[in-house]
Amino acid sequence: MKPLKEGETICPECKGKGKHPVVNEKGIIRGYNACEKCLGHGKLDWVERVVGKRIPWEWRTVNITNSLQLQQSLLEQSLKEIRESIIKVYGISPEHIWDKK
Ligand SMILES: [Zn+2]
Repeated sequence: MKPLKEGETICPECKGKGKHPVVNEKGIIRGYNACEKCLGHGKLDWVERVVGKRIPWEWRTVNITNSLQLQQSLLEQSLKEIRESIIKVYGISPEHIWDKK
């Protein structure tokens, strides 16, 4: 298991194992079930501790156009950051490199 990040706690259901042993009538472990509380992660952040870990269903209902626009704006944002870091490192505007045709 990875070390806990800030705000994360060991899952109380499975004690951080992320799984529950499945035992037969003789008490012999037959296998393991993934922990339903933490979905096998073995840890929960403070929100998950309250509501349980969830598959974010809202992701599936997000309008595809919105999510594409979101991705595009994120991409533009990171391009902007790349340009700024190039300017910082080389002291030149990246347009001088990129716009050569
Ligand atoms: Zn668990």
